[in-house]
Amino acid sequence: MNKIRVLSDNLANQIAAGEVVERPASVIKELVENSIDAGATRIQVDIELGGRRLMRISDDGEGMSRDDAILAFERHATSKIRTQEDLGAIGTLGFRGEALASIASVAKVELITKTAEDKVASRVVIEGGRLIDVKDAARDGGTTVSVRDLFFNTPARRKFMRSEATENYHLTSIVTHYALAHPEIAFTLTNNGRDVMRVSPAKDLRERAFQIFGRDVLESLLPVDGGREYVAKLSGFVSAPRERRTTRDSQYFFVNKRFVRDKTIAGGLLEGYRSVLPHGVYPVAFLFLEMPLEEIDVNVHPAKTEVRFRRGEAVKDVIAEAVRGALANAGIVAEARAESLPQASEPAFVPPSVEQPPPEQSRIDFGIQPATPQLELIQPPPLARVATADPAPQAPSRPQIIEFKDSQESPDFFVDEGISVPEERLQPSGYIEMPPVDSAAKVAKAVDIESVSPSTIQPLGQLHESFIIAVDDEGLLLIDQHVAHERILFDKFRKSETEREIESQNLLLPETVDLSPAQSEAFALIENDLESLGFGLMRLSGRTVAIKSIPTDLRPAEARNLFTEILDTIEAEKKGGAKRTLRDDIAASLACKAAVKINMKLTPEKMRWMIDRLLITTSPTTCPHGRPVILRLSMKDIERSFHRT
Ligand code: ADP
Ligand code: MG
Repeated sequence: MNKIRVLSDNLANQIAAGEVVERPASVIKELVENSIDAGATRIQVDIELGGRRLMRISDDGEGMSRDDAILAFERHATSKIRTQEDLGAIGTLGFRGEALASIASVAKVELITKTAEDKVASRVVIEGGRLIDVKDAARDGGTTVSVRDLFFNTPARRKFMRSEATENYHLTSIVTHYALAHPEIAFTLTNNGRDVMRVSPAKDLRERAFQIFGRDVLESLLPVDGGREYVAKLSGFVSAPRERRTTRDSQYFFVNKRFVRDKTIAGGLLEGYRSVLPHGVYPVAFLFLEMPLEEIDVNVHPAKTEVRFRRGEAVKDVIAEAVRGALANAGIVAEARAESLPQASEPAFVPPSVEQPPPEQSRIDFGIQPATPQLELIQPPPLARVATADPAPQAPSRPQIIEFKDSQESPDFFVDEGISVPEERLQPSGYIEMPPVDSAAKVAKAVDIESVSPSTIQPLGQLHESFIIAVDDEGLLLIDQHVAHERILFDKFRKSETEREIESQNLLLPETVDLSPAQSEAFALIENDLESLGFGLMRLSGRTVAIKSIPTDLRPAEARNLFTEILDTIEAEKKGGAKRTLRDDIAASLACKAAVKINMKLTPEKMRWMIDRLLITTSPTTCPHGRPVILRLSMKDIERSFHRT
């Protein structure tokens, strides 16, 4: 009763395909790698229906003889390694000999190839792992592989394919990676017959980056050049801090020209930018590591996008050091000494683009004026006035410290003969330090919207210029000013979209933006949504877009950054999502970018406006990302905490 059986080759290939061919972009990756390994100087990629219907790659590389062309589809058939020693030092992109076999087991593949020696080309057709046809064909030296009907014989996998837009995004990203890694090779990518990328051979990475990303990115690039002997040599470019991205999508890492996704490299890069970029903002980076073949293991995963470094920490240090050096050369950080890296002790550099706007711009433009400006002076209750040094109706910015004032300035009831401050709490500066306050976290609660009414809410001031402190009949309220404004704007954007009441402002001069191929794909996807939100956009030639107008709530100076950030933020996966959530995503990220930040002073009128507007939004108590907007400390809880009940 034996139950173990050896799987048929074809089934084994289909299983391997599960790892090698995750999605259409993995097919393109394998085929482009093969063309590069074959010494191609020109690679053309044509895609139809997000790769579902057709993916075709043509190159002018060395080609294959007829026998090789058939053998190439066998599992573990490769011309790239022969011995175990070869496996320890892999210099080609491919080596496992399973890509063509895997792809052919789950698709209909046609290979046409010719070497320089052969007079006539060969055509091999394989469908679902079965050899269908081999015959003569006509073509110049090189290879064309056409892959049709991916996953036609594995319906379960076919179901897992994402929308055409999502797959296009990944396909474009792969081709962009290889085009950056090989400036000497001409690349063309077409999608449903339309040019997505067409770059001629470039003399170096810089020129290639210009061809792909345009002048804006090029101008912000700082050369990286560093490394340590026996560890890694590092070259490439990183962006000046003014070029900000909200995702890591614009970071391209290569090890010995193999494109990788790697945490060690990403970690080194981030370390290099420590204290230069705020949290959640990422630089653009094209980083190339050249390292001794024995120092890395590329045979970690069938997709070969992971590598294992023999000395990961050293590699990370080398990268941080080199990136720091690039920033130092550009005068952005003081020095590039590696020892200073781990401590964040150097003075924080705030790049111009993320700095608070200069005074004349720091005026907060709320877009809409409150219908009935409520300018009455907000009187803090007596206790608050006691607690503050300043007679102006502002809450103290550091509430845990009470300034000790002269008796004549203080309200009478505070000057009580009986008052005595314990010695140990009297600071040299004359401040009295408060004993630890029972944490409010235990009692402050997210607010139930039925319990707030605009007419009774009175803003008192700001806490750390970030939270509005207010009172109403029920007790004390804390409002997060950023998320409150975010909620107001989000609703406004969603409303203008559905009601077609678009509030838009023209820019003095239209801004032109050069998009990367991936951004350009994202743009095609959300162009209409952006227009319905108040953007006036025009596609000029190729991947250049002109911004003519923007929603009223955005600052014109930020138009360009916002626009590209939104394209980047619409994350890859969401690109395939339902139309509805995609729109919400755009509105949410616009609202987040345009909302007042924390650490910003608000006038009493602005606070009043914020509260009034907030309460008429669809969901005043949660922000578009689901965070609470208002916290309440009810009278009941206050009294209970003071043991008054
Ligand atoms: P690997 O790249 O790991 O060797 P593949 O299955 O991708 O395995 O390819 C098998 C073999 O087919 C390669 O080793 C190479 O000799 C040949 N081959 C594949 N694509 C091309 C191409 N575009 N031009 C020339 N030879 C190719
Ligand atoms: Mg290969």
